[in-house]
Amino acid sequence: MYLILFGAPGAGKGTQAKIISQKYGFEHISTGDILRESVKKGTPLGKKAHEIMSSGQLVPDDIMIGIIKEKLSEPQLRDGFILDGFPRTVSQAEALDRLFGELQFGVGAILVFQVDEEELVNRLARRRACRECNNIFSNDVINNLTECPVCGAKYSFYQRPDDDESVIRRRLKIFIDTTLPVVNYYKDLKDLHRINGLRPIEEVTSQIFEIVEELKSRS
Ligand code: AMP
Repeated sequence: MYLILFGAPGAGKGTQAKIISQKYGFEHISTGDILRESVKKGTPLGKKAHEIMSSGQLVPDDIMIGIIKEKLSEPQLRDGFILDGFPRTVSQAEALDRLFGELQFGVGAILVFQVDEEELVNRLARRRACRECNNIFSNDVINNLTECPVCGAKYSFYQRPDDDESVIRRRLKIFIDTTLPVVNYYKDLKDLHRINGLRPIEEVTSQIFEIVEELKSRS
């Protein structure tokens, strides 16, 4: 079983992906996290991706498709996985279709998170990440903390360079111009669910749990 979480940066995909993967044991595949890890380690991929990511652009399709192809061949994904941040272009969606055709992952759904632009800018400008576990928090929540509430790392919070307001605006424009057409590509798919990402985290989670339960009953 698989879930594809689709939505603008800041729409809540990563937060929900972590909750769902904890509950169902699905592997959480965040292409952003994979790239950030490569940047941290200074691998050839990381060196290529670093500047592109900091400026809020998209990493080229051939690189991203290569990463996903390798990842999807891992055997533990047979128990279920969540794609967070992929596909982000129509070419990536087409490549993913081909891979799904070859690999046969069973039932799945696409969850489209919807949040308006001003709320996204607000959320992204306030968000902080933990360097160690990659969890994302609102600055309002961790303001007085020195330890990450998830992994316990000390002084590990940072603002991602691409969460700077001018870069956020660019990322949102790229989302509208390049990524949003992917929804149109999937529009005839029966298992496309629209998620109102403005609601509280727990309400969004329970809607997603219902979708997963329904998928499980069919698998
Ligand atoms: P995210 O953490 O998903 O917001 O991703 C952070 C950054 O990584 C993006 O702004 C892009 O530069 C890059 N990135 C992540 N996923 C993709 C993808 N599927 N295609 C192209 N670039 C990506």
